[in-house]
Amino acid sequence: MKTDVLSMTPAELREFAHTLGQPEYRGTQIFEWLYRGAASFAEMTSLPAAFREKLEENAFIPTAAVKRKLVSSVDGTVKYLFELYDGETVESVFMRYKHGNTVCISTQVGCRMGCAFCASTKAGLVRSLAPSEMLLQIMSAERDLGEKVSNVVMMGMGEPLDNYDNSVKFLRLANEKAGLNIGLRHISLSTCGLVEKIDMLAKEDLPITLSLSLHAGDDETRKKIMPVANRYPISEVIAACKRYVDTTGRRISFEYALIEGVNDSEKDAEKVGRLLSGMLCHLNLIPVNPIKEKNFKRSGKNAIKVFTDTVEKYKINVTVRRKLGADINASCGQLRAAEKSN
Ligand code: SAH
Repeated sequence: MKTDVLSMTPAELREFAHTLGQPEYRGTQIFEWLYRGAASFAEMTSLPAAFREKLEENAFIPTAAVKRKLVSSVDGTVKYLFELYDGETVESVFMRYKHGNTVCISTQVGCRMGCAFCASTKAGLVRSLAPSEMLLQIMSAERDLGEKVSNVVMMGMGEPLDNYDNSVKFLRLANEKAGLNIGLRHISLSTCGLVEKIDMLAKEDLPITLSLSLHAGDDETRKKIMPVANRYPISEVIAACKRYVDTTGRRISFEYALIEGVNDSEKDAEKVGRLLSGMLCHLNLIPVNPIKEKNFKRSGKNAIKVFTDTVEKYKINVTVRRKLGADINASCGQLRAAEKSN
């Protein structure tokens, strides 16, 4: 098995160079070449030729090739379908915001969480992504567009905490000064709420923003749309979130997809208000994106207004998410699914 050098930290690369009989600084040089966009060891001309050959035998540089690219004519949002070394594909979305360019990355090919409204999970989990494959979604978009990315959201296909080690490694790599140098405060990780993993993440000393996909104010409703609710009752998820806030001092962002007639009543809003009341958090309401496989409908304007007003009574900071890339199916999972059924 060849070593994936793009999934390695500078310290690991120095150690790797050492095991291949080279001085450690050669590892630093490899790291720098990778982030300058070197696609082969042959290009790394500051390394001795014999060492480059040795690297060729022992290691590889993974790639993510643009298989499809859709550009929104409304707001310039770009959606990519990237092809990985084994022919599997993942989706990423590039968005331009006032606060900077943001990429939404996938952390797995497929997903095994089974949320009823989500297009990424329909065919289950194929495999988890390596840290390099998460980085490559950012690097490939930057290269393709000639623009720098300052913010990342791990909200694409997959459940990042179901690929825990690689997701955490990705966070540390993305933050490397000599690498992408993306501030941890500019990265959000979204989870459906794997309680033990939230507790682990709290102790990693990573000042990222944790997003929690709530989508219901009570267990009965949540179980109908999120199978993970059978494993963790909302009370345990919220308790883990409070521990996370206590440990990290970071505000949590709750995601709530409004689905007409399922979770968007005033009563639902009351329950959400009571759950989140007094917590250092933000509530993000997202009118659900209808997917082909299910006939979930987005809530109407009036229902959204009532929901918003109701949770605000609990002094909760709430926003309705602005939708980018509506004309290109920018929500993750839909492009890959469409490509597969062709
Ligand atoms: N597995 C993680 C991250 C990926 S999903 C998680 O569950 O959070 C990113 C966000 O998009 C989640 O909040 C998810 O619930 C939401 N989402 C998925 N499908 C959606 C849809 N059709 N409409 C609106 N939001 C959706």
